[in-house]
Amino acid sequence: MTDILDAIRPATIGAQALFDKPRAFGMLIDGSWQQAADGRTMESLDPATGKVIASFPDAGQADVDDAVAAARKAFPAWAGTTPAQRAAILNRIAHLIEAHIDELAELETLDQGKPLYVGRWAEILAAVAQFRFFAGQATAIEGRTITPSITYQPAGKQIAAWTIREPVGVVAAIVPWNSPLVLTAMKLAPALAAGCTVVLKPAEDTSITALRLGELMIEAGLPAGTLNIVTGRGAVSGAALAAHFDVDKVAFTGSTATGRAILDASKGNLKRVTLELGGKSPVIILPDADLELAIAGSANAIFFNAGQVCVAGSRAYVHASIYNQVMEGLASHAQALQLGHGLNPDTQMGPLVSVQQAMRVEKYIEAARVAGADIVTGGKRCGKFGTFIPPTVIGNIAPDMDVVREEVFGPVLVVQPYDDIEEAVKAANDSQYGLAASVWTESLSSAHRLSRQIQAGTVWINCHAMFDPSLPIGGVKQSGYGRDSGLAALDNYLEWKTVCAVI
Ligand code: ADP
Repeated sequence: MTDILDAIRPATIGAQALFDKPRAFGMLIDGSWQQAADGRTMESLDPATGKVIASFPDAGQADVDDAVAAARKAFPAWAGTTPAQRAAILNRIAHLIEAHIDELAELETLDQGKPLYVGRWAEILAAVAQFRFFAGQATAIEGRTITPSITYQPAGKQIAAWTIREPVGVVAAIVPWNSPLVLTAMKLAPALAAGCTVVLKPAEDTSITALRLGELMIEAGLPAGTLNIVTGRGAVSGAALAAHFDVDKVAFTGSTATGRAILDASKGNLKRVTLELGGKSPVIILPDADLELAIAGSANAIFFNAGQVCVAGSRAYVHASIYNQVMEGLASHAQALQLGHGLNPDTQMGPLVSVQQAMRVEKYIEAARVAGADIVTGGKRCGKFGTFIPPTVIGNIAPDMDVVREEVFGPVLVVQPYDDIEEAVKAANDSQYGLAASVWTESLSSAHRLSRQIQAGTVWINCHAMFDPSLPIGGVKQSGYGRDSGLAALDNYLEWKTVCAVI
C-alpha cells in the first residue's frame, strides 16, 4: 500500500543537508552558544517521518539564571542606544531573514511540518515584515505633554508635566510550536524596538528556527546578551523564566492552561504579563454571502497549517437555507487537499507537529462520533508515523460536545445550522474564548452590526486570518490580554513615567 509520504522529494536548498547528520545546536547566552550546565539535551523530530533532525540543550535553572543575568547586564546599554541605532539593527535582521528565506522555510518544514510555501510567506516573510514595522516604530516612541489642574503650587509658579516612555526591562518571550518563527518575531521585534533585552524560550517541538534566527541576529550586530535563547522543557526552563525575580515581563503565546500557570508563577515579583492564548473562533455564514468565497474562505480558515493556528475558524454557523450547499462545498474542499511531506511542492497540508498532538486531535473526533455527531469527511490518523489527520468536517453537533467547546488545534471543523442571526451570535459568543471570528455576508449593515456583537479581539469580514504587523491581534475573555502586532504591541514593552515640575 502506498503511503502519503512516498511522495517525498528531496530538498534542494541546503537546509536538509544540515540534517543528513543531525546537527547539535547550542543555546545563546551572553553572545555565546552553550550546552546546558548539566549536559542534558533534547531531540527535534521531522513530524512527517519521525526522523531525528537535530538536538538542542535541555536547559535547567542554572542556564535560565545565566541567560537572565546576561539580559540584565546588557539592558542599560541597549536601553541607552538611540532609536535610530535600534532601528538599523532591526532592519539588518529583517534583511538577513529575507536573504535566508529558502533555508529558514526548509528548516521550519523539517521541524514543524508545514508546507514549504506556507512557511515562506506566513512565517519567514511575515517575520521580515514584523522586524521592518517595529524598526520604524522604534523611532516613533513618544510621551505626552500634559496641562494638569493643580492649584497648590507656590505663588507665582506654574506646573509643567510630561510623560516619558521607558523600556520595561528584561523580557521573557515564551512561544509555541504552531508558527514558531513568526510568533517569535512578533515578540522580539517590538521588545527590542522598545529597548528591552530578551530571553527567548522556543517550544520544545520547534526550537530550530529560533536558534538559527539567533545566529542571524548576532550576525546583524545585536550586542551580546541583548537576545538570549534558552531551549528545553516548558515545565522546567519556561516555568523558571515565569517565576524569575529578575525578569520584568513575560510575553507569552500558547495554551490557556499554560497561560494560567505562567500568571501564577509571575506573582512573586509582580512581573508584567501579556498572554495570547487559545481560541475557538466562530465563522458565521449569512444567507446573502458570496458562497464560493465563503466556502473556500472558511475551509482555509480551519485547514491552513493543519488547523494549528490560534485563530483557526473551528466552529462554522451556517444559515439553514444554505447549510447543505455549504456542507457539500466544505467536504469537497477538504477531500481535494493534498496531504504529504511539506518538502513536496505539491503538498497543501502537512502533518501535525507530533504524534501526541495527532492522537489528541483524533480523540476529540472519536468522542464526537461516539456522542452522535456525523463525521462528514476525514477523522482518522494516517501516515507511517501517525502524525497526519485528514481535513475533517463534523455535522450534527451539540453545543456541549468537547469538540465544540475546546480548542482542538487540528484540522477539525464543526458546522451547525441556524435560523435567525441572533441565534448564531448567541452560539458564537457561547465560549470561554474570544480570540477571533469571521463573518461572511454581502450586507454592509449585517457586517457592521455583527462586528460589534461578536465577543472577540479581531473580527474579519469576508476573510479570515488576515495578519499584518500593523493590525493588533489578541483576545478577550480567556483568550488572554495584551496585543501582538500594531502600536498596541509596543505598549506591552514600555512603561509610562510621569514627570511633574514646578517652574
Ligand atoms: P501547547 O499546549 O499548545 O503545546 P503550551 O502552551 O504548553 O503549548 O506551550 C507554549 C510554550 O510554553 C512552549 O514554549 C512551552 O515550552 C512553554 N511552557 C509550557 N509549560 C510552561 C510552564 N509551566 N511555564 C512556562 N512555560 C511553559
